[in-house]
Amino acid sequence: MVFDYARLPREFPRHFLPAELNFDWEGLEPIFGALAGRPISGPKDLERWMSDEAELDSFITEQKALRYFNSTRQTDNPEYTKAYELYLEVLEPKIKVAGFELLKKYASSRFRTDLPQSEYGLEDRRRASAVSVFRPENVELEKQDSALSQEYYRIAGAMTVEFRGQERTLQQMSKFLEEPDRALREEAWRTSNGRALKDRASLDSIYTKMVALRDRVSRNAGFANYRDYMFVKKDRFDYAPADCVRFHDAVAECIVPLSREIDEERRENLGLDTLRPWDLRVDPGGRPPLRPFDDVAELVSGAKRVVGGIDGQLAGFFERMVNLELLDLESRKGKAPGGYQEELTEVRLPFIFMNAAGKDSDVRTLLHECGHSFQIFLMREKGLPFFNSGVNLPSEFAEVASMSMEMVSGEHYEGVYYDREQSRRSNWDEAVGNVKLFAWVATIDAFQHWVYTHPGHTPEERTAAWVKIYNRFCGLEGYEGLEDSRAYRWQRQLHLFEVPFYYIEYGIALTGALGIWSRYKKDPKDAIEAYKGALSLGASRPIPELFAAAGLDWDFGPAALRRVAEGLRSEIREYS
Ligand SMILES: [Zn+2]
Repeated sequence: MVFDYARLPREFPRHFLPAELNFDWEGLEPIFGALAGRPISGPKDLERWMSDEAELDSFITEQKALRYFNSTRQTDNPEYTKAYELYLEVLEPKIKVAGFELLKKYASSRFRTDLPQSEYGLEDRRRASAVSVFRPENVELEKQDSALSQEYYRIAGAMTVEFRGQERTLQQMSKFLEEPDRALREEAWRTSNGRALKDRASLDSIYTKMVALRDRVSRNAGFANYRDYMFVKKDRFDYAPADCVRFHDAVAECIVPLSREIDEERRENLGLDTLRPWDLRVDPGGRPPLRPFDDVAELVSGAKRVVGGIDGQLAGFFERMVNLELLDLESRKGKAPGGYQEELTEVRLPFIFMNAAGKDSDVRTLLHECGHSFQIFLMREKGLPFFNSGVNLPSEFAEVASMSMEMVSGEHYEGVYYDREQSRRSNWDEAVGNVKLFAWVATIDAFQHWVYTHPGHTPEERTAAWVKIYNRFCGLEGYEGLEDSRAYRWQRQLHLFEVPFYYIEYGIALTGALGIWSRYKKDPKDAIEAYKGALSLGASRPIPELFAAAGLDWDFGPAALRRVAEGLRSEIREYS
């Protein structure tokens, strides 16, 4: 199952790197050295230098991605795991230190200010910010953090259960939660959660170590805590921690009541006294679960038609991904959980990884990742190298690209995956899912704010804080007798472990994507043109300008969320 890279077309030839280059320190060191030692005697030199440096960066990012693909496609192949870990442990620390030398060289160049600010201003700001937070002594700590991430991955990837005579991953188990048979749902839920809880002590200890490391990293860089450090590190130039807290409050005020209304209606429709955690994914009308496809081939051929119904150019991109085999979609043993889209930065092509099990949400996930991929295609021909690479894309807008596609695509499922009634059900599910997602984003983000502004907390204090935050944003499902599952639910959110502070982006992007969805329903052509135009800007503009280019307000405060809640409420009524 090795990723067959050689067959991919190379449409962007190298100008600076040698044609043959090994991905090891022997190969890379002289190149870093050449860039560090090259004299820069004018703005043209600096531009050339930056473009060469970006080429090196693309090579490194792509090689890392290839190792990551292999290790996630086959977590049970020790060779792939070893190759990725070797990169993280040996090569990445060296690259970071050498990269910092280049960053300093750029920062101290007097020609910086001679470059046209309209083109280079934002990149200049990013680099200045990166110089300000980098500390060589943090490289070792970050390496330890990566190793802990790998450990989390191994533990989470190995979680399987015996259920009804078959070994299944927890992702495969989630399918049973859609079954009308309540006893079956309960058994499946208890089996999965029981399995996850078996590892709670090891996951707790991994997280405790991570939080301590991250706190040290932030203090080394001169910050009061890791939250404040990450806002700078993640180039969050356009919002502050206080804006996130306003978002949490707005979700509590505008979204949580709607979420509980939905649950109350669900409870009534299901004829239950109390809603339990295994009652949330089943159709409240008692109908069998939506099963849009039997196998991956059907999923893909359906997606071709769906995207074709949206836009010809986007359909061409998808066709290209299929032909180049840039999709790994089916769930199988040994495959890491979750789904992602990653760019191969040298060939500038996207790759989609997911675990399809025949569910409605699998179709949405594929279209979500397609949205990310379309952005890679739309920006690949454009402008300066660091602006058309997925690496620099602000997630707050990149997730607008993906979530919009996830929602808009639902307008085209009828006659492809579903009949009319099923397609309405799917859109109803999507709208309800968005309400729940807002609440979940607030939960995860508020939890991270608490964790990193209370360094030195005990695991017991952390659990107590989690439960309090969880209860603030959750629905009406009751956890009597299941308190442990609620207390450790956060352990199944891999972002907390692997990409700290990455989550609020989904909430911000969701407000934007909902705007595109409603515009699409009124004027599809116009909405898709604005969507494509904004995506093609890549990372070249600040986030508020990207939102504006897509015709969206840059606002995720109370006023925006009040509007969003109204919109979702009427959408849910429309599809009921
Ligand atoms: Zn995404």
